[in-house]
Amino acid sequence: MSKIGFIGLGNMGGPMVANLIGAGHEVRAFDISPEAVKRATDAGASAASGGADAAAGMEIVITMLPAGQHVRSVYLEDDKVMDIVENGTLLIDCSTIDVTTARDAIVEAEKRGLEMIDAPVSGGITGAAAGTLTFMCGGPEAAFARAEPVLNVMGKNVFHAGAAGAGQAVKACNNLMLAIQMVSVAEGFALGEKLGLDHQALFNIVSTATSQCWAMTSYCPVPGPVPASPANNDYKAGFTVAMMLKDLMLAREAAATVGASTPVASQVTDMYETFAAAGNTELDFSAIFKMIEAR
Ligand code: NAD
Repeated sequence: MSKIGFIGLGNMGGPMVANLIGAGHEVRAFDISPEAVKRATDAGASAASGGADAAAGMEIVITMLPAGQHVRSVYLEDDKVMDIVENGTLLIDCSTIDVTTARDAIVEAEKRGLEMIDAPVSGGITGAAAGTLTFMCGGPEAAFARAEPVLNVMGKNVFHAGAAGAGQAVKACNNLMLAIQMVSVAEGFALGEKLGLDHQALFNIVSTATSQCWAMTSYCPVPGPVPASPANNDYKAGFTVAMMLKDLMLAREAAATVGASTPVASQVTDMYETFAAAGNTELDFSAIFKMIEAR
């Protein structure tokens, strides 16, 4: 069992800590929110007084933070975790951040003789609670091999995608495809409605035909066909419009750094920006159906 410092105890980090403790790891936890720290200590973690205190003397440090600026702040700028951890400490950043920051952080870790991987997740808060997250990892093979047993405690699918930043690159591509698929399903159902089709009748056929995809069969954006989808619960998230927009911005940024053309994603991003600006940031991202239907 390992001594783990865990920084960022929000909706995802909190339940991930609980699973690490459940598996017998010793966790020292920090968040700038005292309520989040309290939830972690209730689950059996010890409370650290800051990011540096959470990381000092640990074998592994895991971060689950909102964005690249927080990751830089914790590892390099404010808490300077990379400067205070012992040689041989393994650093695992599970936050969803931009590819460039992820790569730079791993280079900085290597300069200090530390091993680090980027390991963003998919599976949301239910996956975090159930320990069934998918981890997509980038970084040196040896660092991934060390991280794998710990990631297996929090997830059921753990992949090594390639060199530093490859995990973030996979995440950006995945969510770009998901957003496009969600808008395509919403547009198809909105058109079907205007053509007089019943949602269920359309679903029964297209879910077995060539347009079938996860956004349709597991997360259908219209009320009715998929009982567990947010559409049947007033579009309560789930995965918020704000989160999808964040990931689409990361995909846009990644595409710009390599000069890739992503015209469909650009249009879908514009649609999500319009929907968010109308006050819908906290709705589930499948609620984009409402905007498309109203047009
Ligand atoms: P969250 O906002 O609930 O949690 C982030 C936590 O980080 C907060 O508790 C915040 O107080 C803390 N924090 C911020 N700056 C800090 C600092 N300097 N030191 C210590 N703590 C600090 O967000 P979340 O939903 O847990 O998501 C975390 C990451 O996981 C994000 O990058 C998100 O994009 C990604 N993600 C989220 C989901 C999801 O469904 N929520 C799914 C996949 C990936």
